[in-house]
Amino acid sequence: MKKMSIADISLKGKRILVRVDFNVPLDKECKITDDRRIKETLPTIKKIMDDGGRAILCSHLGRPKGKPVLEMSLKPAATRLGELLSKKVGFAPDCVGPEAVQMVHALKDGEILLLENLRFHPEEEKNDPAFAAQLAKLGEVYVNDAFGSAHRAHASTEGVTKFIKTSAAGFLMEKELKYLGGALHDPKRPFVAILGGAKISGKIDVIQNLMDKVDAILIGGGMMFTFFKAMNKKIGKSLLEEDKIDLARQILNNANAKGLKLILPVDCVVADDVSETAHSSVVSIDDIPDNMKGLDVGPETITLFQNELEPARMVIWNGPMGVFEVEKFARGTYAVADILARMTSKGATTIVGGGDSAAAVSRRGLDNKLTHISTGGGASLEFLEGKILPGVAALTDSPN
Ligand code: AMP
Repeated sequence: MKKMSIADISLKGKRILVRVDFNVPLDKECKITDDRRIKETLPTIKKIMDDGGRAILCSHLGRPKGKPVLEMSLKPAATRLGELLSKKVGFAPDCVGPEAVQMVHALKDGEILLLENLRFHPEEEKNDPAFAAQLAKLGEVYVNDAFGSAHRAHASTEGVTKFIKTSAAGFLMEKELKYLGGALHDPKRPFVAILGGAKISGKIDVIQNLMDKVDAILIGGGMMFTFFKAMNKKIGKSLLEEDKIDLARQILNNANAKGLKLILPVDCVVADDVSETAHSSVVSIDDIPDNMKGLDVGPETITLFQNELEPARMVIWNGPMGVFEVEKFARGTYAVADILARMTSKGATTIVGGGDSAAAVSRRGLDNKLTHISTGGGASLEFLEGKILPGVAALTDSPN
């Protein structure tokens, strides 16, 4: 069911409570090191300002476990948002209580207030109805633009909608649903998925859900070694999930039975240690030495993947091809990012499912070269698993 959009609502003169995802990374001096999540919410915030609404923004940051933690204050996010908008952004030292209420009611049309970290209250994560009702009272309309938190049924993402008449999706939420939902329900073909990351266990439901939807799945990252083990290959000291070998075998058999192309690497980079100074070499996946770990896909695999990817009109990517945090093992991940950027320029739709692969694209400087990079790691994973996200389900159904 299509959900109501912020574009469908009259905002003028109204208090709009907006759940944003300002869970940004901070350094030791509490400076924001990556403000993408703030920038991505600007269209929603600007729409409220331009239409003469009063924006009351709320978010979580980190895991303060239900009590105030100075280093997890959202104050730096208010400052950054003010810089991005070239406009004063108010900051309330608590998200509920008399001071927040008073600041909310002092807002004039077009003004913005950011509330302090929701998770300073344990009731937020417990989805406590009384707390949700307090939040709901701050606004006359609720907008959820926090796709990255939509997989959690918390007071600010789900509970609040029970106490407010209209709950709409913000523009970022809509964009995420458009691309991720479009990939699942109406993909352009050929449609190829690239899955990597550490373990099969983290991606099993995604693999199973995508198997019925894609034309090919390319597998890289640490999870490839459990597949190789299931094929009776030697994997040296590479990452192995002993208890998932049978599952890997089952996936291979299923793919075979369906006639689905499930493509595994043909070579990999092995090393004696996960460090920049490690001794490394490229070997065929049939020749992984006993005392070495596989830490990236090799050059022949990159060519193989490139040949599979190039004819595709839609690609979804989740999980790095190797231990990309160490430059020495980042080549495979960066190569995939480069291939996707080239494909995008030729008209393919390329979607990155957040988390580590999004970080890798960013490091490669390709943020603007792909079609869509999700802001929600966990949320996009659950969405791709075919689960219903409570923060989305709770929004008001669109009458159109
Ligand atoms: P995930 O959260 O499951 O997407 O996993 C991301 C992590 O997988 C990253 O931190 C990578 O360093 C790690 N990773 C990727 N390839 C390998 C590998 N071959 N061996 C060990 N870890 C890997």
